[in-house]
Amino acid sequence: MSIKQQRRYTPNEFIFREGDTGECAYLIESGSVLVFLTDGKDEMPLRILGDGEVFGEMSLIDGSPRSASCRAIGHTNLIIVTKDQLLDRVRSADAVVRLLLQALLERLRAQNDLLRGKPTSGAPKIDSLAEEKKEVLQRIELEIRIANGLDNDEFHPYYQPIYDLNTGSLMGCEALLRWHSKDKGMISPGVFMDVMEESSLILRAGKMVIEKSLRDLNEMKKVYKNPDFFVSINVSGRQFMDATFLQHLESVREQYGMPATQVKMELTERVMTECLPAMSTLHQLRGLGYLLAIDDFGTGFSSLQYLANMPLTDLKIDRSFIMTMLSDNKSLSIIKFLINMAANLGLSLTAEGIENKNELALLRNLNVSLGQGFLFSKAIPLADFLKLGQLVDVKAA
Ligand code: C2E
Ligand code: CA
Ligand code: CA
Repeated sequence: MSIKQQRRYTPNEFIFREGDTGECAYLIESGSVLVFLTDGKDEMPLRILGDGEVFGEMSLIDGSPRSASCRAIGHTNLIIVTKDQLLDRVRSADAVVRLLLQALLERLRAQNDLLRGKPTSGAPKIDSLAEEKKEVLQRIELEIRIANGLDNDEFHPYYQPIYDLNTGSLMGCEALLRWHSKDKGMISPGVFMDVMEESSLILRAGKMVIEKSLRDLNEMKKVYKNPDFFVSINVSGRQFMDATFLQHLESVREQYGMPATQVKMELTERVMTECLPAMSTLHQLRGLGYLLAIDDFGTGFSSLQYLANMPLTDLKIDRSFIMTMLSDNKSLSIIKFLINMAANLGLSLTAEGIENKNELALLRNLNVSLGQGFLFSKAIPLADFLKLGQLVDVKAA
């Protein structure tokens, strides 16, 4: 917690002078100040600032000396904003925002230089921004490529089969987004998902995944007659919080005549806890019959208490536990704990990331009901998914 520091100034008292080192910025609590340039003996007023306005921040941000002077007009109370308080916020801002800030500072300083008739030297660069600039530009470029890719229908869900680990029967699939870029070939979510999720692109992509997955579920049901056959769709936080999410989902579902009980929504622990305002959406989804899975369970740090209040139907055990359960007793203990908890809460369990027969044998022994992983299949296009067949041999392990 920062200590609120205040300073009082009498009329005409200097707050700082041009050329001083910037030690802090100021917030005007009451009164007013004049910001001005000096040209020999003359003062060139730049602006008058009043209650609630901030000044003196420029030289803190870019580390250059004060580029103007400032004095109180009447009795003035100022709140001190320390260098650390300000820089912590600048450093934690989005890199694009920092780049814009740098551009604004450069423009402001150039304007001041122009007023003084000086050739402009520009502002010193914000620390570390030069290296970041390249990264930021690459990110913006990727955003544009993704947007074009969405326009050109280059994104499609692939489907990873999910099996009943007891019988080996195909029970459903998880829709996983793939980008078939015209110039770069197949691209996995690891490359584009973060950029998508940090922008509104995820809303367009999410709607597209819902539309294509429900259309494809229609095709799957013609081949796989199991009445409980489901498609599982990943929902990101932004999507879940979007006011049109539920309405869009319902209209697509009605368009394809799919029962909600054959559509599973996967939300991560983080989305569930960070989107508490959208909790009513979760209840509405469940009320309509949708299956609701908590994804990547065990990787967050939230309390278990909230689980009991959420209308969940499924819990997915994160791949990190499956990967290590044969070599690490702690992972195995966590899995056993999750199995117990799921049973007590009446949740169905899915193990993700099963890669070998030993893992499968252990999960079967533990009575985990559903599983997916490279042992069975990676995510594949619809045409290949329709040729998988209804059964795999789970006992051969
Ligand atoms: P996730 O929801 O945890 O999906 C499971 C990931 O594990 C997928 O990676 C899948 O290909 C991978 N996987 C499955 N079995 C195995 C295995 O046996 N071994 C290994 N090493 N990996 C396995 P993918 O497709 O790269 O997706 C990564 C993440 O991107 C997903 O994690 C999900 O969070 C996100 N994602 C994918 N598609 C969508 C989507 O349509 N919408 C949203 N919001 N997120 C998506
Ligand atoms: Ca998932
Ligand atoms: Ca997962």
